[in-house]
Formats: sequence, C-alpha cells, structure tokens
Amino acid sequence: MKSSTQQAIEITKANESKIGQVDFENLTFGNIFTDHMFVCDFIDGKWQTPKITPYAPLTLDPSARVFHYGQAVFEGMKAYKDDNGDTFLFRPDENFKRINKSAARLAMPEFPENYFFDGLTELLKLDNEWIKPGFGNSLYIRPFVIATQAGVSASEANEYKFMIICSPAQAYYSGDVSVLVAEKFSRSANGGIGYAKAAGNYAAQFYPTNLAKKEGYQQVIWTDADTHEYMEEAGTMNVFFRVNDTLLTAPTSDRILDGITRKSLIDIAKKEGVSVDVRPVKVSEIVAAAKDGSLKEIFGAGTAAVISPVKAFGYQGNHYELEKQENSFASLFKTALMNIQYNKAEDPFNWRHKI
Ligand SMILES: *Cc1c(COP(=O)(O)O)cnc(C)c1O
Repeated sequence: MKSSTQQAIEITKANESKIGQVDFENLTFGNIFTDHMFVCDFIDGKWQTPKITPYAPLTLDPSARVFHYGQAVFEGMKAYKDDNGDTFLFRPDENFKRINKSAARLAMPEFPENYFFDGLTELLKLDNEWIKPGFGNSLYIRPFVIATQAGVSASEANEYKFMIICSPAQAYYSGDVSVLVAEKFSRSANGGIGYAKAAGNYAAQFYPTNLAKKEGYQQVIWTDADTHEYMEEAGTMNVFFRVNDTLLTAPTSDRILDGITRKSLIDIAKKEGVSVDVRPVKVSEIVAAAKDGSLKEIFGAGTAAVISPVKAFGYQGNHYELEKQENSFASLFKTALMNIQYNKAEDPFNWRHKI
C-alpha cells in the first residue's frame, strides 16, 4: 500500500478525551465514537488538505446533494489489538479499493491512496487507547463519502466530503438468526448498484426486512431479481451454505457485494481442505437439502459479526429448522479468521497490516 510521510495532515487534537465516560464492557454496536475524525473535502476538482479534528457534528446546506439524490458510499473495517498492544488492520487495501469502486459507480471522485492510509494511520495513533485488547474487542472503522454541493439540480455533485469515524466494538453476537427467503423484493439488480457499498442499498432493505420481522424472521435472504430462484446475500452479509461437507456460495456479480470476509473464508476453507463450490445456489436445492438432512449449516459473513449462523429459514410459507452442528464450519472458520486478525496465528495469506 502506498503511504507518504510528506503529505501533511492538519491535526487539531481534542482538548479532552471522552474515553473516561465510556463503559467498554457494555457497548452497543456503532453508538459511541472516538475523540477524533478524519475529514477531507473535494472542491474545485481536487481533494484539499486532509484534516483530523475533534469528533463533532457537521454543518451542511439543506440542499446538499446527498440529502436529495443519495450520493453516499461507505466502508466497514476494523482495527484489532493483540496482547502485546500492537494494532492491526485486516486487508485494508481491499477496503480502499472497494470504496473507490463504489464511488466510481455513483459518479463520485476517486480518493487518493496515500490520503486514505496516512489519515487512517494518524487517526488510529491518536485514538489508540480506544482499541481495547482482548479477543472480540475491536475498533469499527467507518470511512464514507457524501456529496456536499448545495443545490437540488439533479446531477452529480462537484463537492464531496470524505470522512473516517471510529467506534469501539465488542464481539458481536446476536444469537443464531432465522431468515426469510425473498420471493418478491430484491436488494439489487443487473446493471444496478448492488456491488457498491452505497447507502441507498441499505435504505431499500429496511422495509422488506421489517415485513420479514413481522413474520418472526430477523433477516432476509435476497434472491436474484429476475427469477427469485437463486440465493444471493443474507441481510447485509454474504451467505454460505454447507451441504454435507461442501461449502456453497454465490459468485460475486453486479448484484452481489465482493465481501472481504467472504473471500477470506473461501481461502481459509480451501486451506483447511474443505471443498468450496462458488456457483449460483438454487433456492430449490437448498430446500431439498433441508428436507433430506444434507443441509448442515447456513451462515452470513461480514466484517461486523464475522460469521452469523442461521438456525432456520422460511420459504413459500414453510419453515425449515437446521440441526445444531458439533464442530460447525461456522465456528471453525470464525476462530481461524479471528486468530489471524488478532495476531494469534500465522498469517499465511499476508492479510494482517500492522499500524
Ligand atoms: C459490507 C457488505 C458485505 C460484507 O463485506 P465485508 O467486506 O466482508 O465486510 C456483504 N454484503 C453487503 C451487501 C455489504 O454491504
């Protein structure tokens, strides 16, 4: 990754840290933010001097494009601390590449690599106390870009704000979830923005997810928009199915987000000697596997929860329960991945990045 020390970041430190007021034993995900934030404005066709300032609200014109036309993309990544107090990121180059890929799809300007990594490194140094050691503790990092130009004419903006904010997180376990397979709604479509981490993708999911909740399911498994015959993603995570001892997951596409957890799990599974089939996964084959008992596991994969096991799914008015597995792939792979993230294991893939 490119990094330069010449690039001056203007740093204004917070007068006082808020850290003393935080109960690190009882964090709810994404509710508390650290003392500082990174900000860089795009004006007159170029990114201006990046800044780190005390965490504070923004002032934006009510006509700012982001409020009207939804030009907003983001990333989700984490910093981990090992028992020696060293701080690590996990495959941060992937997040950097992806935010620019998302931005390009929404006609937003590319952010420079050295600004991203220098800014992130400085921010993590300033707020290092907020990263608590201990397996499962982390600092959730949220880079994002919004269109700030004032005026409601319907075109892409010429002014943007790139920011990074950070939120301390504990191991995230919401219990095994039940999911409803979508028969009508879609998360994304061919030619659409499903592969981008665009804010609007999330907005469009809330309503169908609320309907699923009314039926007793916590999340929706999104199916392809054309036929609703193929499994695509679970909630805001990529999804894996274990049929007998083979792991199945859909290939990434226009509609499916290229998750870093997903691709890391594929590599880990292969290294463990598990056969992984990356191919379109039919709803009907999963239903058949549930009926004949060959469906052993379903789990979601994403940075926030790492792996989120599914205990049951609903489809066409039927409810299918999965038997709890001893030595599940979900727990095996989650531990293997976290051991790499927390510097507790060798890193054969070179994924760890020390700050
Ligand atoms: C962020 C995200 C994921 C998971 O990606 P990771 O890089 O593993 O965190 C999966 N699906 C969607 C729709 C997402 O937005």
